[in-house]
Amino acid sequence: MRRPTPAERFAAKVNTAGPLSLIRGVHGHCHVWTAGTNDKGYGTFSLAGRTVMAYRYAVEQADGRPIAPGLDVDHRCRNRACVRRSHLEPVTHRVNILRSTNHVARRAAVTHCPARHPYDDANTYRAKNGTRKCRACRRAQNRARRTAAREQQLAPVAPLTAPNTERQAA
Ligand SMILES: [Zn+2]
Ligand SMILES: [Zn+2]
Repeated sequence: MRRPTPAERFAAKVNTAGPLSLIRGVHGHCHVWTAGTNDKGYGTFSLAGRTVMAYRYAVEQADGRPIAPGLDVDHRCRNRACVRRSHLEPVTHRVNILRSTNHVARRAAVTHCPARHPYDDANTYRAKNGTRKCRACRRAQNRARRTAAREQQLAPVAPLTAPNTERQAA
């Protein structure tokens, strides 16, 4: 049997139905790396016995040439697991640092969740990746989930249909 090419192996580890980016100018779903990641959450891919960064491979594969020496790759969608070429942009290290600092500053300036609950000490917890999450929203989600589960249990059983009755009556 033919061995898969690196590009085929790579594609098999990507979920193209990732989250939709909410950042202006970044279109479509993230292509999420589903295999190994490093301790910072960036995907890793083994290529010819070496470990390479999955997003760098994605850019080089799509462009058909190596990334210019000295350039970083900025995740414009701010999703470290993303390997979608259109969400990635090779930039200088300086620009990359500036962009991520701006992003952190913008995040910090947000004082309320989308449902307008405050991000204060009592109401805030951290997701694994460090982003702030709203306890009130989580409670509401859990409540909705429990209600939905209960309604599912109490749903009336559909009456058994008798396929022949109608024909006989006609
Ligand atoms: Zn993305
Ligand atoms: Zn909330």
